[in-house]
Amino acid sequence: MNIVLFGPPAAGKGTQAKILEKQRGLIQLATGDMLRAARKSGSDLGKKVAGIMDRGDLVSDEIVIALIEEQLDANKGAPGFIFDGFPRTVEQAKALDGLLGSRSKKVDGVVRLCVDDNVLLGRIQKRFTDEGRDDDNPESFKIRLGNYHKQTAPLLPYYAKQGKLSEVDGLAEIQTVAASIASVLDMQKQAKMPWWKRVFGN
Ligand code: AMP
Repeated sequence: MNIVLFGPPAAGKGTQAKILEKQRGLIQLATGDMLRAARKSGSDLGKKVAGIMDRGDLVSDEIVIALIEEQLDANKGAPGFIFDGFPRTVEQAKALDGLLGSRSKKVDGVVRLCVDDNVLLGRIQKRFTDEGRDDDNPESFKIRLGNYHKQTAPLLPYYAKQGKLSEVDGLAEIQTVAASIASVLDMQKQAKMPWWKRVFGN
C-alpha cells in the first residue's frame, strides 16, 4: 500500500508517518529528511539546497523526484511507502504516478491532515525553540506556509478527482489522529476487496 500523507509543514505528517511505519511495516520517504541529511553530510546537493531551504522555498522538482526514485530502487522489496512532504507540486505528483506506474504500483490513498494556520504558527515557534531547525524560524515558516497554499494545495483536486483523497482532523491528540488515519486506510482497503471477501472473510 502506498500512501501520501498530505498537509502543510508542521501538520504532524512526520509523527504520523513513523506510527504508520511501526503499525504497517511501510517505509517512510520524507524528502525534507533526505535534504536535511544531504546538508549535514556536506555533499554538493546539500550545499545547493541549503539557501533555498533556509528561505522556506521549494527546491526543484528535478532534485526531489530523483531522491524519491533512488529510494524506490533502494527499497524494492518494501510492502509499500508513506510519502511525507512529497509530492509538493502537481509536477511531482505526476512524476510519482509515473515512477510507481513503471514499477506496477500506484498511489493507493492520500490522507490530508487538516489543520489551522494559526495553530501551526504556534507549533513552529515551539519546534524552533526545541529543535533549532534553521528553516523553522517563524519568518521562513510563513514563506513555507505561503508556498504550501500556492504550490501544494492545488494537488488536492488532483487526488480528489481520482477518488483517493481522505481528510482527518490533524489538530486532535497524536493517538487520535493515528486512529483516524488507521480507520481511513482500513476502509479504503476494504472498499478495494472483492465483495465475497468482505462478506465471508478470507
Ligand atoms: P519538510 O521537512 O518536508 O517541511 O521540508 C523542509 C524543506 O525541504 C522545505 O521547506 C523545502 O525547502 C524542502 N523540500 C522538502 N520536500 C520538498 C519537495 N517535495 N519539493 C520541494 N522542496 C522540498
